[in-house]
Amino acid sequence: MSTNQRLRPITTEIKEEHLYIGGCDMVELADKYGTPLYVLDEETIRSMCREYKSAFRNYNNIHMIYACKAMCNLAVLKILSQEGFGFDTVSAGEIYTAYKAGVDMKRVLFNGNNKSAKEIERALEYGIGRFSVDNFYEAELLNSIALSKNTIADILLRITPGIECHTHDYIQTGQIDSKFGFDLSRTDEIINLIKVKYKNLNLKGLHAHIGSQIFETRSYYDEVEILIRELARIKEKHNLSLNEINIGGGLGVKYTLEDCPPSVEELASAVTKAMKKALDKYSIEEPVIYIEPGRSIISTAGVTLYKVGSFKKIPGVRKYVALDGGMADNPRPAMYQAKYTAEAANKMNNSETELVTLAGRYCESGDILIEKTELPRLEAGDIVCVYNTGAYNYSMASNYNRVEKPAMVLVNNSQSDMIVNRESLEDLIARENIPDRLR
Ligand SMILES: *Cc1c(COP(=O)(O)O)cnc(C)c1O
Repeated sequence: MSTNQRLRPITTEIKEEHLYIGGCDMVELADKYGTPLYVLDEETIRSMCREYKSAFRNYNNIHMIYACKAMCNLAVLKILSQEGFGFDTVSAGEIYTAYKAGVDMKRVLFNGNNKSAKEIERALEYGIGRFSVDNFYEAELLNSIALSKNTIADILLRITPGIECHTHDYIQTGQIDSKFGFDLSRTDEIINLIKVKYKNLNLKGLHAHIGSQIFETRSYYDEVEILIRELARIKEKHNLSLNEINIGGGLGVKYTLEDCPPSVEELASAVTKAMKKALDKYSIEEPVIYIEPGRSIISTAGVTLYKVGSFKKIPGVRKYVALDGGMADNPRPAMYQAKYTAEAANKMNNSETELVTLAGRYCESGDILIEKTELPRLEAGDIVCVYNTGAYNYSMASNYNRVEKPAMVLVNNSQSDMIVNRESLEDLIARENIPDRLR
């Protein structure tokens, strides 16, 4: 089983009714660091990285790059760079974090549909390895900034391969009606511009990303076929041998028992098979492949601990159990109707359960973390652990209701280290000013 097919971190154990991850007692951790608390299991992250590398072992020219937007902080980027990953970034903030984590900036790619001039300047100053150029406006802008700095930017062209995959509408990106990338019917136009006008852009290849939380490897098969066909077409039409393709990320994870995402091996096999077939068909040289997983690298490694507070029982309808966090630390249920699985970290062997709805503490009726789930009879002070919160939780967190963002703790070998400090009330007002005239 590959790590993304598990509900819980790989080091999960139960000892005397308590949940342990990375050798640490989650109940003790909640007590020591407070709640809500993001907990990240180092071994789970590393094992997933190794599974990716091992799954693609038969392909020589492969570069793994982690999509920082899933979760970006210094310690996480450090671990991933130790595992040999490069980084897919989408803002100056992510690029800066990578730089400060000491990663090799040549292995950083800058992606996004509206990069600002300032961000592009920064990226060039840091010497990042690749820009994924998303549109005509950006090509012009990047070329002029590169020219003014007397440098050449190595680029990929972000294209929309026109693949529909079965995932939530908001996280589907490869279809024709998408805000990202060049439609295939426009690639000739942009390539001509690069050839005759944009002398400071060096086109290396193509980039696509077909969506997120993908459960069908068929989508990758089709994507690779389209990318290789396009490389062959470009070679024929423009006499240009591009030898890089970036196939994006998107591999799904298991949020609930019903979810059955494919393994990394299955993903790799679809990609390698499609590649072999397409290379034969179009007779071009084997390109370098970039793959840029985010969610599947980090999701399973993360859990969030909450403390139980108040209750509301509506007879014949449901029982709400309120937690001390919710949509500000995990906006996904409110935003995408995302489903999660929870257990009571201090009542792991309790067989007497009841049906409850886990509500958040924020002032929105939609702030429900889990609708109707079987949990042991909860009391105030119990610790609830929500699994698979490593991706798109911390990175999407807000200060809604003016609540301090949680701390994050990295666990490994019975050791816990705070890698993100909890925000304080002072932090909340630290960048605010009252104009003199209001005093
Ligand atoms: C979001 C994104 C990824 C990562 O997607 P996951 O589903 O988290 O693996 C990779 N590439 C691009 C271009 C993205 O926008």
